[in-house]
Amino acid sequence: MASYDRIVILTGAGLSAESGVSTFRDPNGIWAKYDWRDVATPEGFAKNPQAVHEFYNMRRRSHAEVKPNAAHLALAHLEANHGGVTIITQNVDALHEAAGSTSLIHMHGQALQALCAKCQHRHPWRDDLSIETACPSCKVVGAMRPDVVWFGEIPYHMERISGVLRNCDLFISIGTSGNVYPAAGFVAEARASGAHTVELNLEPSEGASLFQEAIYGPATQVVPAYVEKILSAHNNY
Ligand SMILES: [Zn+2]
Repeated sequence: MASYDRIVILTGAGLSAESGVSTFRDPNGIWAKYDWRDVATPEGFAKNPQAVHEFYNMRRRSHAEVKPNAAHLALAHLEANHGGVTIITQNVDALHEAAGSTSLIHMHGQALQALCAKCQHRHPWRDDLSIETACPSCKVVGAMRPDVVWFGEIPYHMERISGVLRNCDLFISIGTSGNVYPAAGFVAEARASGAHTVELNLEPSEGASLFQEAIYGPATQVVPAYVEKILSAHNNY
């Protein structure tokens, strides 16, 4: 393997699945049980905010219980032992942070955070939210929402993401379905910048043919193994 200096890693639900975080698009995933239009759109929130709060209260409680797995830990180990790693995650859980990663972009927001639609302040949040919750900053009641990006909303930090994709020489996609834009387009952006592109996934994603290299298997196996390859090439360079 070649040695790489600027590594961008895109992570999705498949990374956290082995920690017990429910995935969204699998046959047993969350969207098999809930209609995303009701619980994950601005329109659904406007129509029935309390129902949306209850959905995310349940998600928040489950996120508070899970622990990072060997794949999260391997990525934190990579960052600690390699100077140029950025993780872009589609996951709203806090498992990258719990594993020790710091160079992290939450493009779809964070489940353990709340956003005030009135004053735009963000707050770490572990309790339940309701339509009666007051914003700790501006004190307005009823303007708090989960700090997650809903369908129809623009993902966070897109300019910063374009910047790191333009500059990377290795792009790795881990545990993503490859059918949710804009993240599904990142591999093309990285390739246009000349990066080597790798897919690590349980099975070929919808965008599998766009990658130059692919390794399939559980994230807790394929991610630590790939991280070791990167670090040994980096240290021998
Ligand atoms: Zn506020």
